[in-house]
Amino acid sequence: MNNKLGLYLHVPFCDSKCAYCDFYSYRADVLLYERYTDTLCEHIRLAGERLKRQVDTLYFGGGTPSLLGGERIKRLIDTVRASFKGEIDEITVECNPADDLKADFELMKKAGVDRISLGVQSGINSELKALSRRHSVSDVIRTVNAAKAAGIHNISLDLMLGIPHQTMESLKASLDFLLSLEPTHLSCYMLKIEPDTPFGRADIKTLDLPDEDTVSDMYLFTSEYLQKHGFEHYEISNFAKNGFRSKHNTRYWLCEEYLGLGPAAYSFVNGQRFSFDRNCEQYLTAPHISPDGEGGDFSEFCMLGLRLKEGLDFSELERRFGAKPTELLKTKAEKFRNTGLVDLTDRNLCLTVQGFLVSNAVIGELLF
Ligand code: SF4
Repeated sequence: MNNKLGLYLHVPFCDSKCAYCDFYSYRADVLLYERYTDTLCEHIRLAGERLKRQVDTLYFGGGTPSLLGGERIKRLIDTVRASFKGEIDEITVECNPADDLKADFELMKKAGVDRISLGVQSGINSELKALSRRHSVSDVIRTVNAAKAAGIHNISLDLMLGIPHQTMESLKASLDFLLSLEPTHLSCYMLKIEPDTPFGRADIKTLDLPDEDTVSDMYLFTSEYLQKHGFEHYEISNFAKNGFRSKHNTRYWLCEEYLGLGPAAYSFVNGQRFSFDRNCEQYLTAPHISPDGEGGDFSEFCMLGLRLKEGLDFSELERRFGAKPTELLKTKAEKFRNTGLVDLTDRNLCLTVQGFLVSNAVIGELLF
């Protein structure tokens, strides 16, 4: 077993709630930020003592981790370094472009943050408004410039496809806007309407969403356009310049282990999957862990691996799980050989970009 772990710290605070979001987050104040940071530091120390593993990627996700501010983020990073052995190869902080982060970026850089992820979502102000995002296009420019001025050049930007009012033209304008900021990485997600959100409760007709075929075209166009501009489409929703894949998130797709701390954070440690309950007050007073069984079986390994451009290597599958399930998978994959959805060779199976688009259906057929 690889002794190294990724560490994910969940920060469940947002200054306002976006209309489509069902992540666990809510509005809080500085007192709670302080209490939460103290608790996380304590849990990091305990985990370090118990697990005795190395941590080589650290990811602050949320919510809006940048709300904690540079000082608290530094305190958390220092605690991780003091509690876990090993060099940390990548430290990412998710940030909200609505806030003025100039001073925080300087502190983060000093603390070792070398990558930020910005939830831009669109380069069109009216679309941002429809998503009830707090920021505007000019806020994004200001934030990217501030990060670069602080010396953080590894910048990932999020874009959403299939959002209210979006057209192929406005998508291209958003992509051009993102490219003009010279990011190293882009995450492009299709909007999913979650039931327990304002979008989920709204009459769908009032949202002015592009239809399903248009969203599919948007996905294929995004892939082609970004590849033309020097980005590798390395995972279903992720694009990177050479050498800038997300190291932390790649762990998930390679079925490697990680510890998640904070309410609603998931973990895969010592072969077991578990999560903390979605309840911050409980996390602060008496954290409760819900077990989720053993992780890393054949289906899970394949399901995650097929998200990556490289797909699955048959000799690696045989080494881990034996010949029988591997042969069965090869037989099922044969049915897809001439569909344009998979690339199948004697050594390897992977999804094409067309296959990425319908990955749930293809993976379902291949594995279940
Ligand atoms: S900023 Fe991100 S986590 Fe917070 S409500 Fe909006 S989408 Fe959700």
